[in-house]
Amino acid sequence: MDAATTTYGTRPSASGPAETATPGPTAGTGWSARPPAAFVRPPRPREDTRPGRWVVRLVFWAGLVAVIAPWWLDTPSGSLAGTGAVLTAAGRITGLLSAYLLLVQVLLMSRSGWLERWVGARSLVSWHRELGGFLVVAIAAHIAFIVVGYAATDHSSVTKETWTIVTGYEDMVTAVVAAALLAGIALLSIRALRRALRYELWYYLHVTSYLVLFLAYGHEFANGQEMVGGKLGRHLWIALYVLVGAEVLWGRLLGPLLLNRRHRLRVVRVIDEAPDMVSVYMIGRDLSRLDVKAGQFFRWRFLARGYWWQAHPFSLSAAPNGQWLRVTVKTVGDHTTALRRLRPGTRVYVEGPSGDFTADRRTAAGALLIAGGSGIAPIRALLEELPAGTVVIYRASTDQDLLFRRELEQLAEARGATLWYLVGSRDDPRTRHFLSPRGVRELVPDVTARDVYLCGPSGLIEQSQRTLRRLNVPRRQIHLDPFEF
Ligand SMILES: Cc1cc2nc3c(=O)[nH]c(=O)nc-3n(C[C@H](O)[C@H](O)[C@H](O)COP(=O)(O)OP(=O)(O)OC[C@H]3O[C@@H](n4cnc5c(N)ncnc54)[C@H](O)[C@@H]3O)c2cc1C
Repeated sequence: MDAATTTYGTRPSASGPAETATPGPTAGTGWSARPPAAFVRPPRPREDTRPGRWVVRLVFWAGLVAVIAPWWLDTPSGSLAGTGAVLTAAGRITGLLSAYLLLVQVLLMSRSGWLERWVGARSLVSWHRELGGFLVVAIAAHIAFIVVGYAATDHSSVTKETWTIVTGYEDMVTAVVAAALLAGIALLSIRALRRALRYELWYYLHVTSYLVLFLAYGHEFANGQEMVGGKLGRHLWIALYVLVGAEVLWGRLLGPLLLNRRHRLRVVRVIDEAPDMVSVYMIGRDLSRLDVKAGQFFRWRFLARGYWWQAHPFSLSAAPNGQWLRVTVKTVGDHTTALRRLRPGTRVYVEGPSGDFTADRRTAAGALLIAGGSGIAPIRALLEELPAGTVVIYRASTDQDLLFRRELEQLAEARGATLWYLVGSRDDPRTRHFLSPRGVRELVPDVTARDVYLCGPSGLIEQSQRTLRRLNVPRRQIHLDPFEF
């Protein structure tokens, strides 16, 4: 292998960790020139703490059956005679389905800690996206079936029946507003439209879905046959609303408020790592009690003028060490560019931690970490929590783009890891070679016996995934953090 050009390896030496100049604050003020304790911490035990997504899936289907069952039990088969009755029945079922899916959608995004642990933050978002499509179809079908069904029963026109329903039934005007809002939110979720909007605008429009829940609530309880009266169905729906409301309140408001009150984070230092990369160091109270792992991210809100109204997700770029936290950010837009101007002392409000790009997700004995660009941030942190023998492949266009070289090399020494820098342009045949199945095998002969953690630009992630598939690395051993939801 040609080690002098595009790829250089750092193999562990027997001498143990060297002194480091890593700029991290000590417990009080000043800066430590000694290796943080986290550098030499033993790896966490190998375990998967999630009881499994199938439990959540099972609960979802059980819930669906439970909300439809009261209709089934209360509807004598003889009552479904005639087109009007059948269409109205279809309208009721799709109505129940819509109300249920809407609650599930809000629950999935409640930032509930147990859901994130069981399912994973990224999977929650992809479930939310998938269910969103079904919800829109269910609501459209509910409206169509009810209007046409009632019109058929009353022998009236669809237009006249629509008017009668909207003006004659309780809380129907707010229900129409809710449906219109939801249609708007669904439209904004179309990828092209979403990309055209500023992220914050899209986000704040999207969270109006809470309003949909609130506006739809009235007509469900006033007109929904299964929700009126003191029936079992009504109690079930009230319980569902209370559960979802409590999860949202805790996950989005009370949990973060308590966490921030306990730790009181503030910026202590902002360091330019490269022309387009910046690190922000933060300290706080009692950080040893902050329950976060390397590879996880928080949503960070810097409480200063011009920053406070945006919360952005950034992963920790050093494993938690009880003394300070660090994020390392690529300056890609307004907010990330403005981070360079953050003042020491700025208070920070966080939500999280989230994410399952963590060492305890391992299923194999060894680990391979592949990073590119800002993806080195969580990879650098993860290296601290993975066992000896871990291999890191760090892809960059030029030597100047390689971040944390000293830290990585010291960590590699301390933790018995092997470090490969893959430097060169995307079209460089040698760079391409080392990302091909043959090249990866040359660098990591036992790759199939390792969990692979991938973080970086989409091109690198896709290419690496293709390579790993061709090398027959089992899917469960591949962990991604593509920095997007
Ligand atoms: C789980 C996760 C972890 C991340 N960790 C890191 C990290 O450690 N280092 C790093 O450099 N980058 C990280 N990112 C990416 C980082 O969050 C975005 O680059 C940053 O928010 C862009 O903000 P901007 O206003 O400067 O750029 P903009 O130009 O406004 O946005 C660029 C793109 O970033 C995304 N984005 C913008 N604002 C947000 C937001 N509030 N929430 C979610 N996505 C947003 C959108 O897709 C947008 O199109 C992470 C992203 C995610 C989802």
